[in-house]
Amino acid sequence: MVSIYCRSVHGSSTQLCDKCSALLTYAHQRLERCPFGEEKPTCASCPIHCYKPEMRMKIKETMRTAGPSMFFLHPIDTLKHFYKERQRNRHFAVKTKPSQKTE
Ligand SMILES: [Zn+2]
Repeated sequence: MVSIYCRSVHGSSTQLCDKCSALLTYAHQRLERCPFGEEKPTCASCPIHCYKPEMRMKIKETMRTAGPSMFFLHPIDTLKHFYKERQRNRHFAVKTKPSQKTE
């Protein structure tokens, strides 16, 4: 995702520019510390805003820009990814739903 963004917006060829590689490193660090680990939903639906606001904006921007081109370049992978995300989100929603039993 970041590499697609970097290529189309920053015009980099093989390597990420400094800004983008810093963003990617940051994202990985956050992910490692995320208490949800593998169960983590997409960041948009994550109840814990673990990104600094500034970084979150950059990530959002990256997703928005790279999303469509990713779908265009790798339609199958993207579909699989979204399908997995959806399942994971559903699983996550069930698990975190506060119990509302009144009995
Ligand atoms: Zn870049």
